[in-house]
Amino acid sequence: MTCRMCLKEKTLCKSHIYPEYMYAHCYDENHSYVAFDAVEGSYNKRRRKGLYEKLFCRICEDVLKKYEDYGKSVLYDNLKPKVRKLKSGVTIDDYDYKLFKLFVLSLLWRSSVSTLSMFSSIRLGKYEEYLRRVLLDEIEIPVNDFPCVLYQVHIKDRLSDGVFMEGFPRKAIVDGRTIYQFIVDGLYMFIGVGTCSIKSFKQGASVSPENLRVGYDELHKIEEFSGLVSRLKQQNKFSCYEKS
Ligand SMILES: [Zn+2]
Repeated sequence: MTCRMCLKEKTLCKSHIYPEYMYAHCYDENHSYVAFDAVEGSYNKRRRKGLYEKLFCRICEDVLKKYEDYGKSVLYDNLKPKVRKLKSGVTIDDYDYKLFKLFVLSLLWRSSVSTLSMFSSIRLGKYEEYLRRVLLDEIEIPVNDFPCVLYQVHIKDRLSDGVFMEGFPRKAIVDGRTIYQFIVDGLYMFIGVGTCSIKSFKQGASVSPENLRVGYDELHKIEEFSGLVSRLKQQNKFSCYEKS
């Protein structure tokens, strides 16, 4: 079978779309968790393992594991404990922009490559091949290439760990740009597709070479994406997506 990353004929692994460690919060005493499904007419499901399918060879799994391990150290060893303590957004100055951004983009790219139905709304088209090369060759891409904005969501004072929404029914178009959004383990991510000209970048993407800024917002406020973007715009925090 063909590995979706190196495109060579190889034995494929059972590859996770999102790393298994992101599901650790979800499991109850029966080692299962509830996956929320926002699509009308479908139901939440109880699952025993994170989502996976045969996609990548062992070598490419190791490439992705490097990004996953780095993402874990930033999000789980550093960011989440700080957010939990401060109950506010957090800025991390000392981090590896390239590796962290590749980690975030690997989640989006794997969702696009996946044939599982819950990811069917995420299709990158010509950008899928672009990101494949970026991830395979560990390329650092500019901040306005696939800009990423991250939020930790919460319900009252509790972080919404364990909340997953794999893909909203449709992608959002904001200022003429396609933006994908998903929630993984209480982390809300929205990622612009392709190169987005960024006017006031300092308040735009939160994954930047200078620092990593992760916001903090109530889960129920984030359910309506366009509402979130307009609130951010009103607060002058999200003014980056414009046609060049
Ligand atoms: Zn491979």
